[in-house]
Amino acid sequence: MNPSYHRYTGVAASPGIAIGKAFTHAEVRPSVPQRRVASARVEAERTRFTDALVSVAESVRRTRDRVDIEHGPDLAQIFEAQLAMLADVEVRDRTLDIISERLWTAERAFAEIMAGLCAKFEQIDNEYLRARVGDLRDIEQQVLTQLSGGALSGLQTLRSNTIIIARDLMPSEVAQLGRRLVMGLVIDVGGATSHTSIIARSLGLPTVVGTESASRRIKSGSRVIVDGEEGVVHALPPAPVLRYFRSERRRQLRRERELSERRSLPSVTVDDVKIQLCANIDLPQEIDLAISNGAEGVGMCRTEFLYLGQRLPDEQQQYEAYRTIVEAMAPQPVVIRTLDLGGDKLSHSIDSLPEANPMLGWRGIRICLDTPDLFKAQIKAILRAAVAGQARILLPMVSNLDEVERARGVIAEAAAELAAAGVEHRADCDLGVMIEVPSAAITARQFAQNVDFFSLGTNDLVQYTLAVDRGTARVANLYDPLHPAVLHLIKQVADSAQAADIPAGICGEMASDPEAAVILIGLGILQLSVSPMAIPELKEVIRAIRLDDAVELAAQALTLTSGSQVRQIVQERIGEALHMARPRRPEGDIR
Ligand code: PEP
Ligand code: MG
Repeated sequence: MNPSYHRYTGVAASPGIAIGKAFTHAEVRPSVPQRRVASARVEAERTRFTDALVSVAESVRRTRDRVDIEHGPDLAQIFEAQLAMLADVEVRDRTLDIISERLWTAERAFAEIMAGLCAKFEQIDNEYLRARVGDLRDIEQQVLTQLSGGALSGLQTLRSNTIIIARDLMPSEVAQLGRRLVMGLVIDVGGATSHTSIIARSLGLPTVVGTESASRRIKSGSRVIVDGEEGVVHALPPAPVLRYFRSERRRQLRRERELSERRSLPSVTVDDVKIQLCANIDLPQEIDLAISNGAEGVGMCRTEFLYLGQRLPDEQQQYEAYRTIVEAMAPQPVVIRTLDLGGDKLSHSIDSLPEANPMLGWRGIRICLDTPDLFKAQIKAILRAAVAGQARILLPMVSNLDEVERARGVIAEAAAELAAAGVEHRADCDLGVMIEVPSAAITARQFAQNVDFFSLGTNDLVQYTLAVDRGTARVANLYDPLHPAVLHLIKQVADSAQAADIPAGICGEMASDPEAAVILIGLGILQLSVSPMAIPELKEVIRAIRLDDAVELAAQALTLTSGSQVRQIVQERIGEALHMARPRRPEGDIR
């Protein structure tokens, strides 16, 4: 075997296999002069900084327009967010103050402010929001480059069939690559939900991130395979490995063609039972992918995405974001979940005190009810956006009925104020609750009398039922969505919804796991909401199973004592059908 063959393991950030020649992208950090500025030069230094902001904004606007034409508005949205960061008055004014007060260069003052901002984001215990640091760094890099009079990096010199290997790659850089020359990406840092990864997925570029040392060790020009399914990079692969991945790539291309031809097939089981397949969306730009992948609605729109900046967005900003989504999906429904801040999500944007157990603390609906102005602004934005299609309101982290009643009060007030002000809106949006706290699951029968729909938030329901933190790696082996205790609660929720004749869906991650989907359907959950990318494969699973089998398996699962036993009976009974629906790599491969 070739002695220089090396495998780098990272995180699978965008699926597919790419084979090409490495282009090792050297990061050129613009210099940050540490000298002091003479008092007489302070005004000029301040102007140099504000001029740089204007120039970078112009360039980002040009990128946005070009990306809009080449890749559509969903990707272009990312640059809207960057423009908003560039327009942040607080960042600008604080930088100007530092230039004046400390006599620092514009570069040094701006770098200082951005370092503080990035550190703040990095501490957030939420992978998605932490990943927004990439956008901040992108902006910082562009402004510093502009201030130092330099040009952006040499990605323009790329040849065809290139795999870019970089320590870090900015979202703007990836978006400018396009698909003509670049086959795939390998990035040493970051996670699967960074904007760079999001763009890579939207562009369909197989990507592995978090490879740590690949950019230092892989030489430009050497052959590289990016395995975006497994999160592995093969540098200088020997002939058998290359042969294996070439044939694997052909197999995947065939699979993609098949799935795309089958996109419009109905989401029904073999015995013709309709299962509604919806999309979870975290960012407005995901809506197009949701639609093109056949989503029959948005099952949950997490609204935390609007809270990436320093300040909370106002009613108008929220209205515009929700309206875009509701309009695009019309006449299909869009379930807008009200703010689920706190716990592991961005509590820094509100005034909260440190807590010993944030997951059990001031979060979700609790924050909203305690800060009625914040909550009412969001409700008004939703009621206004509902005019453009079909919007439903979903309350997170509800643990007792009193919270629903109080939320109804705020909704009624919001509607009355909009009516008094003559603002177009809909006051009759359906109101549902996330069932993600055991108390809500156990008393689902009472909840069902008081709300229009249920959405099972199993990501949280599992952690609260099993007392296993969803974000702690040490106990990850105990985090088991198929644990019969969780299944009993889900059954209770499904039965309560059915008795009251209201819909019960699921928006937790377990819905995209084929074995779990079978059990959920068997328990009576006939509406599944998953990430847009997961929809086509899940539809294949649905089309391969019978409701009868699912019901029997679910009943049997409730008699078992562990999640692994549940998985085993599903495999034994319908493993072959699942495998046909969602083929995995052949056994005995070269890896
Ligand atoms: C859940 O808890 O299952 C859920 C969908 O919400 P989140 O992951 O945002 O907490
Ligand atoms: Mg949740």
